[in-house]
Amino acid sequence: MIDLHAHTTCSDGTDSPRALVNAALSRGISTLAITDHDSTAGWSEAVVALRGDLSLVLGAEISCLTDAGISVHMLGLLFDGSNTQMQVMLEETRDSRIPRMRKMIALLNDAGIAISMEDVEQAKPEGATLGRPHLADALVARGFIKSRDEAFQGLLNNDSQFYVAHLAPTPEVAIRQIRAAGGVAVIAHAFASHRGATLTPSDFAPLVTAGLNAIEVDHRDHSSAERESLRLIARELNLVMTGSSDYHGTGKLNELGECTTDPGEWERLESMANSRRVVRL
Ligand code: AMP
Ligand code: ZN
Ligand code: FE
Ligand code: FE
Repeated sequence: MIDLHAHTTCSDGTDSPRALVNAALSRGISTLAITDHDSTAGWSEAVVALRGDLSLVLGAEISCLTDAGISVHMLGLLFDGSNTQMQVMLEETRDSRIPRMRKMIALLNDAGIAISMEDVEQAKPEGATLGRPHLADALVARGFIKSRDEAFQGLLNNDSQFYVAHLAPTPEVAIRQIRAAGGVAVIAHAFASHRGATLTPSDFAPLVTAGLNAIEVDHRDHSSAERESLRLIARELNLVMTGSSDYHGTGKLNELGECTTDPGEWERLESMANSRRVVRL
């Protein structure tokens, strides 16, 4: 089983990179990608933890914003982690998540919800990319809500009055940077309409021009109609199709391997990186 999208405590997952590798092994995953939000901080621990015949794909999920303000997540896989421009791009996004969080907290405070930056820091593992799930955890700890899921259905939803965007590259910029660093670019859950506004089919051609390699088709946030229209787009634009779990440990319902990538599709995608970077023992 090939699962190309998973998070750890280096962003908003609840498994450490080591625990993720172990979970993948016990689930029978053969190829696993570690894709924390805007960070490669988990790579080294995952590599050290590697056992058996698991193949490890090092990557990141880059938070992007289109000029129209649509949130897009771009998976970068198999890029050179020592590429300076890539690390600068990731760092700029991580940095901007701090003032963004302060703004969201201020809006919540104005509405009488007493939560502080310290509460959020406490809910966040050290070194993790700061995100709304940590704010959700802080709201749970303070008794305002019951779960992350409840937060994303209400208070912290993209359409909520408390939502603030952070600085982020456009999808085109992220794709070009991933490719410049030798990796492959996969657009994640592009039609997950319940999260907020999404791209439309005509938005994909410019992404292909920028270097997009693949579309994540099978993902729990896509309905079967959404998967079908993504398949049509992928066929038309000759893009690879992937499937993945977007596992977050206990931070989300998603189970490792619940959606997977066809081995032939993965072979084609892997061959598009500028060097063989899959990590194996
Ligand atoms: P942010 O990047 O800070 O805007 O937070 C968005 C992240 O929250 C997404 O990338 C998801 O991984 C996570 N997320 C979205 N919906 C949920 C949910 N229902 N439960 C837990 N985490 C979620
Ligand atoms: Zn996440
Ligand atoms: Fe995502
Ligand atoms: Fe994700």
